[in-house]
Amino acid sequence: MEVNFRLPLSTQAARQLSDLLNFELSRDWDENVIDIWKLPSNNRYFSSKKVYKALTQNVEEASPLFSWLWSSSNLGKHKFFFWLLLRDRLSTRNLLRRKNMHLDGYRCVLCSTGSKETSLHLFFGCTFSQACWNSISINWNLNLPPLDMVLEAKRQFGNAIFQEIVITGCWVTWTLRNSIIFYNRSCSLSLWRSRFKDELDLLCIKANKKRRIPLTVWRDSFL
Ligand SMILES: [Zn+2]
Repeated sequence: MEVNFRLPLSTQAARQLSDLLNFELSRDWDENVIDIWKLPSNNRYFSSKKVYKALTQNVEEASPLFSWLWSSSNLGKHKFFFWLLLRDRLSTRNLLRRKNMHLDGYRCVLCSTGSKETSLHLFFGCTFSQACWNSISINWNLNLPPLDMVLEAKRQFGNAIFQEIVITGCWVTWTLRNSIIFYNRSCSLSLWRSRFKDELDLLCIKANKKRRIPLTVWRDSFL
């Protein structure tokens, strides 16, 4: 079986692939035996319900990040952007490289460290991004797996508006990065903070009352 994935696999998918490869290698396949599909239950009649039940029996719970992401007050396109980020499906230079796309360079444009532009680096590990997050008192523990890192930062933040702040911050970083690559602009911490405040102003108007008040209080104390 040829294994040649260009997109990153989730931890669960990688484990399932490994199980499948081990299963395949541990068998002596007899070409004369006809393959049949068999459900775990003894009932010989097929139904889509039984298949669904069998397939979802041992499925791991999704990270809670995926439910709180959609409950945030951000615009739909910002939420979708952040969902892609959590799934590591954003078209960073590193991902484009894995898709065999030729680019002039594959390095991060926000810093001068020459690091590969992965999602993790661009939004969380980059010296520029870290300076931006530090300016609003958010720190990332890069030793943790990415989803756990976000959950840990959420716990430390201790405020229900964490998702709005993080989604907006990542969105601003992404638009700044795009303006450098596509329009040859420059970036600075003050520009990031200014764009971040503009986005947050809009969010304060859009959000419902429950979110608007803490968002406004937070914005006025940090920006
Ligand atoms: Zn960087």
